[in-house]
Amino acid sequence: MRQTVTACIAVGANLGDARQTVVESLHDIGRIAGCTVMATSRLYRTAPWQAQGPDFVNAAVRIGTHLTAPALLEALQSLELAAGRKRPYLNAPRTLDLDILLYGAGCIDSPKLTVPHPRMMQRAFVLYPLADVLPNFVQPQDLQRVQDQPIHRLD
Ligand code: ADP
Ligand code: MG
Repeated sequence: MRQTVTACIAVGANLGDARQTVVESLHDIGRIAGCTVMATSRLYRTAPWQAQGPDFVNAAVRIGTHLTAPALLEALQSLELAAGRKRPYLNAPRTLDLDILLYGAGCIDSPKLTVPHPRMMQRAFVLYPLADVLPNFVQPQDLQRVQDQPIHRLD
């Protein structure tokens, strides 16, 4: 069997019952064959950042996985689809968005996948949940840099 890799996934939703969708998706990620959830973040609410629509519910999850990064992306996109995800235009409101933030120490730059996620360090809605599941990765100065982006804990 392939070696286990630690990966972190950002979860976001701002259409429908966003909170419910996010909570369910945290469970669904644990049901992907070859994935085990190691930690889930608190839930957060954020105003859309460079996007439109209602407020987002955001979270993050740390998993151990035997899947390759492309296979993990494919599994996550199936969950997005199952949640009714549509992509009518760039940064459109979404029922569910699952982004791979980190895949071990791997750097990937393919047409379908960039890891570490290129915009993660600029986004409070990524960094706060990520700090819950991978505290040693997110430094106080990283959070300081995004302090102009309001973020509220939901739970
Ligand atoms: P975004 O999350 O940037 O708002 P989408 O969820 O619509 O946009 O994803 C667009 C494409 O981004 C996906 O089809 C996927 O191939 C690509 N992508 C590149 N890097 C990543 C990543 N690290 N995690 C998830 N998707 C990624
Ligand atoms: Mg996405």
